[in-house]
Amino acid sequence: MIYDIGIIGGGTAGMTAAVYGQRAGKQTIILEAMNYGGQITASSCVENYPGIESISGAEFSMKLLDQAVRLGAETELDQVTGIRGENGIQVIQTTGEEYACRTVILATGVTHRHLDVEGEERLTGAGVSYCATCDGAFFRGKDVAVIGGGNTALQDAEFLSNYCRKVYLVHRRDEFRGETGLAERLKKKENVEFVLSAVVKKIVGENMVEGVVLENRKNGEEMEIALSGVFIAVGQIPQNQVFTDVVQLDEAGFVKADEDCLTTGDGIFAAGDCRTKKVRQLTTAAADGAVAALAACRYLSTQE
Ligand code: NAP
Repeated sequence: MIYDIGIIGGGTAGMTAAVYGQRAGKQTIILEAMNYGGQITASSCVENYPGIESISGAEFSMKLLDQAVRLGAETELDQVTGIRGENGIQVIQTTGEEYACRTVILATGVTHRHLDVEGEERLTGAGVSYCATCDGAFFRGKDVAVIGGGNTALQDAEFLSNYCRKVYLVHRRDEFRGETGLAERLKKKENVEFVLSAVVKKIVGENMVEGVVLENRKNGEEMEIALSGVFIAVGQIPQNQVFTDVVQLDEAGFVKADEDCLTTGDGIFAAGDCRTKKVRQLTTAAADGAVAALAACRYLSTQE
């Protein structure tokens, strides 16, 4: 069996690519390492997807998976270990199998870097979030902290300052990594307080977040802040190292590809958060899935 499109990653980008591929009459297979849906499954309530007022991330993912499968997409839970080109066919290797495909769409997403502190994992979804855009509105009128000093943290703090009573921006250094202009704008906001040279020691709360314990890195002093939400924005980790034989990655490990989703590999496309891009959202992942699938269809028509 040779698949027309092998899709690596069963998140929003990958599953959308399968929907578009199947609807174009191509046989697709989605290879997913862990669980279908990807990052959005961690979001308790999605309210920023056009046309859907409110839905849980898990339900959104299941509907999308259903749609792809009903259209004929095949799915396999398997960890991809590499791709090798063989007589114009891309052979996707997994821990147990090999899948021959005429084209490949990389849709491996990213994982959010974690702080790895006490309370973080236990309270994820109960006040700990990795996506201010997804979950910020649930903290209207409440006190929250954003952890990180890059552009994501700064943008998250600005976004949350529109909803929340108070936003603590906690960064481990005195200087932000993100844009100075944005930091200056935040400094002027009355409900934003910078807590610099501070690291999170633990996130406290029984069933919901109740506060954070911070340590001042200069004098070692600990302080506890009472709050309802902790938004962790300490960077994202792409997972593309196994593809370096077939496509180029940027310095951060994202697949080099533009809005057209074309990679440096012949017949290999990249969609969603795994590729170089500025906005990583549910809508842009879906858009990329469509763009990559249609690009793969065009590629296939040139090979016939
Ligand atoms: P980032 O730029 O890598 O920043 C991560 C931040 O988290 C850094 O300030 C880092 O501190 C901190 N950090 C890392 N590990 C930590 C830990 N264990 N504990 C505490 N703090 C930790 O990540 P990002 O903000 O997600 O941005 C990723 C890329 O997307 C960047 O290139 C960014 O410019 C880009 N981006 C662009 C836009 C835009 O609109 N143009 C918006 C968002 C993101 P240090 O600074 O001390 O290393």
